[in-house]
Amino acid sequence: MPNYSIPSDVFFRAAEQFPTPFHLYDEKGIRGTAQQVNAAFTWQPDFKEYFAVKALPNPQILNILRQEGCGTDCSSETELLMAERCGFSGKEIMFSANAMPAREFELARRLGAYINLDDISDIDLLRDHGGIPETVCVRYNTGGTFKMNGNQIMGNPGEAKYGWTREQLTPGLKRLKELGARRFGLHAFLASNMTDPGYYPALAGILFSAAAELEKEAGLPCAFINLSGGIGIPYTRDVPPVDIRRVGQDVRGEYERVFGSPGAGKPGIKTELGRYMTGPHGFVVTRAVHEKKIYKDYIGVDACAVQLIRPAMYGAYHEISVAGKEDAPRDHLYDVTGSLCENNDKFAIDRMLPEIHPGDLLVIHDAGAHAFAMGYQYNGRLRTAEILYTRDGAFRLIRRAETPEDYFATLVW
Ligand SMILES: *Cc1c(COP(=O)(O)O)cnc(C)c1O
Repeated sequence: MPNYSIPSDVFFRAAEQFPTPFHLYDEKGIRGTAQQVNAAFTWQPDFKEYFAVKALPNPQILNILRQEGCGTDCSSETELLMAERCGFSGKEIMFSANAMPAREFELARRLGAYINLDDISDIDLLRDHGGIPETVCVRYNTGGTFKMNGNQIMGNPGEAKYGWTREQLTPGLKRLKELGARRFGLHAFLASNMTDPGYYPALAGILFSAAAELEKEAGLPCAFINLSGGIGIPYTRDVPPVDIRRVGQDVRGEYERVFGSPGAGKPGIKTELGRYMTGPHGFVVTRAVHEKKIYKDYIGVDACAVQLIRPAMYGAYHEISVAGKEDAPRDHLYDVTGSLCENNDKFAIDRMLPEIHPGDLLVIHDAGAHAFAMGYQYNGRLRTAEILYTRDGAFRLIRRAETPEDYFATLVW
C-alpha cells in the first residue's frame, strides 16, 4: 500500500507557501523508519545503517538520519564530500563504488571510511592510492540467478557488473592480509526493491556461511557482514509493507545458526538501505495545468520526468492522488503527463482517477528515494525545490529550485 499518511491539507498548505512543483519530505516519517530499522537490529551490538546517499542526497536529510544513528553509504567523490561537510567521518562512512577514479580511494582513506572493494584489481589500486586499511570490505557476486521461496528467480547477479566471484574471494583476502589488512567485511547486493521479508534473511544466510568459510580459508577474521540495500517499499496497493522487525529477527536466526550468539569478536552487521529509509516519505507535489482530449484524455502537470524519471525509465508505478479528492470516485481514465518532448514523459498511463481540472493539486507518492536524485535537465526543464515538512509541522526549503542561470553557469558562451 502506497504511503497515505500525510493528509491533503498539508499539501495544500505547502503549495500556498512554495510554487509547484516541488518534492516534499516528511521528517517524522523518515525518523520513524530509521528508529524501526535500528530497533529491528538491537540484538546485534555492532549494527549500523549506512544510508545510501544516492537515494536522497540532501544534507538536511543526512543530518536527520545522523541524529537517528545512521551513517552514509557513498559511491562517488561528490557524495563523500557531502558526507564530510555534514560532519560524517571515519566509520560513519561506507564507500561502495565501482569503476571509480583512483583519487576517490585517497579521499575515502583520508576520511577514514570503510572501503568496499568492487573488484579484485581494486586491491592494488587501493594499495597505491591511500593504502590498505586494517579493515577492508569486499563485494561478493554470487553469480547465476538469485532464487527464493523454493525456486522463484528474484535477481540476476550473473548479469550484474558488481563484485567478485567466489573463486576470487579467498586469494584476494589472502593478498589483502599480506598487505596489512587485519579483518574483512563481506557485502552483497543481489536484488532490488524486494518487498518479500525473506530477502535479507536469505542474503544473510549466504553471506554468513561464506564469511565463516572465508575466515578459515584466508586466515582473516570477519569484522562485519554488509547486507547492503534492496529492501523494497509498496508502490502499489496490493503489496504490504515489509515487517522490518520480523526481518531483523529472521536475520538473527541465520546469524546464530552460523556464528552463535552475537558479542565481542563476532561479526557485526551493516546495512546500506536507501529506498526503504526515505522512499515512502517523499512526494512530488504538482499542479494540473492542462487538460487535453484527443484519442485519450490527458492531464498535463507542471512536473515532468525531470522530477521523477522512474515511470519513464522503468515503467515504474507511482500512486497518484488528487489533494482534497481522496474520497471522490475514481471514475475517469487518464494519462498524467509532463511537458517534455518525449512521449514516455507520463507519470501514469490509463489510470482511473477522480475527475481532474486545471488548478487541481496532484500528489505523486513514494518519491522520497531515487526520485529527485535521478533528475536531469532535458528540454531545459530544471530541477525544482525540495521542501522538508518538519516534525513540528513547518515547511522548510532544503534546496532551492534551479534557475536558467544555474543551467547556463557551466556553459562556455
Ligand atoms: C543503490 C545502492 C544501495 C541502496 O539501494 P536501495 O535499493 O535504495 O536500498 C545500497 N548499496 C549500494 C552499493 C548501492 O549501489
